[in-house]
Amino acid sequence: MAFSSHQLKTSSIYRRGIWAVVLGLAGVLAYLVLSGRIAPGRPVCSICQRPLHPAQVFLAASEKEGERWACCPRCGLHFVIESNGKALRATHFSNGKLIDAEYATYLEGSDLMQCCGPTTLRTDSAMICEVHYDRCMPSLVAFANRQEAQTYQQQHGGRLVSLAEAKASVGRQMRK
Ligand SMILES: [Zn+2]
Ligand SMILES: [Zn+2]
Repeated sequence: MAFSSHQLKTSSIYRRGIWAVVLGLAGVLAYLVLSGRIAPGRPVCSICQRPLHPAQVFLAASEKEGERWACCPRCGLHFVIESNGKALRATHFSNGKLIDAEYATYLEGSDLMQCCGPTTLRTDSAMICEVHYDRCMPSLVAFANRQEAQTYQQQHGGRLVSLAEAKASVGRQMRK
């Protein structure tokens, strides 16, 4: 009899322990969602609130505001200039892998654009995008190497630029 009541006690302590762990995990998850570290549902650009497209995401950081994920390099560079921050990571357009923003080759002004619509835009819909002021236009996408950027350039137009040149171009656009 004494044995079974002891057993009962241990199992209820054990159960309480599990609940503490479950509640603790729920708390951590809620904190991460509320603090914006995990976006619930579809992740969006922290600068323009558009959905993030895996082939174009860009990571920047500033001392004051911490790390920010952007929908494309152009949007991310807006943030870098506005907050005096730093470009950290870009995405290699052809395979969606994160690369060092500093050493990427950027293709500016091509018809590759995922921010303005659910699919890559053709010229007619890209025009609609340009009618409104759009911080994501002209298109700016990143490549891990120059060769691949050139291959895309031959098919989609635009010009190849470095991170510094891309930043300068965004800066000129912002002063307009
Ligand atoms: Zn954006
Ligand atoms: Zn964008």
